[in-house]
Amino acid sequence: MKSLQTLFVLSVFFIHLVFGVTGVDFSTYRPGMNNRPLYQSIIKDLGEKFGTPVQTAYRKGFEAQIDRIVIDEDLMDKYLQEAAVPQEREAIARFILAHEYFHVLLKHPHTSERGESPKEIQIRGTFTEARREMEKQVDHLAAKYLHDLKLPTKPVERMFQTHPELVHGGDCYPSGEERAKIVSEASKPGIEMSYFDNKAIKCTFFLNKLAARFPREMPLK
Ligand SMILES: [Zn+2]
Repeated sequence: MKSLQTLFVLSVFFIHLVFGVTGVDFSTYRPGMNNRPLYQSIIKDLGEKFGTPVQTAYRKGFEAQIDRIVIDEDLMDKYLQEAAVPQEREAIARFILAHEYFHVLLKHPHTSERGESPKEIQIRGTFTEARREMEKQVDHLAAKYLHDLKLPTKPVERMFQTHPELVHGGDCYPSGEERAKIVSEASKPGIEMSYFDNKAIKCTFFLNKLAARFPREMPLK
């Protein structure tokens, strides 16, 4: 009996190792229904993995605030609906939540156009240019997070290439094609420092604090 238990524990361990099972089962996801337990598991996982828990709120418009992430369930449904299988849905949901989570950890919500940014964040270009770089930074890290979990990034690349509001980008957002490229290139080893130190912004201080939580991405270039 004891050896059976041991075998069970070992096999669960190996399944984790080989298939990268992440413990959030998106086969229970239903559009338009209450999927908050799934999102909360991801937020909890991020908090544990990166050592900084954050609060969540639910309403229209995804947003990263100083200590919380606002989750837009309708918009999440829109992005998740076209994913074919639970694992693809999980990848998209994790990417979107990790994107907002890294904004919080990198203290992006503390920056402002009026120049009241923390001293650890140097805005070198215009605030709009710096904001675009911040979006690239968190896309890069969120894609790294998916790679770490052995989740596919293709569904996220597709999302950026197909939704019109993402395809066109905006003042503060790179184009969808550019964002898809950032996501696909995150498969290369190492954190790409040019996103964090360039002519528009330097914010390596807060990055260094969280980068150690990406053991496979060290050392930093
Ligand atoms: Zn963002």
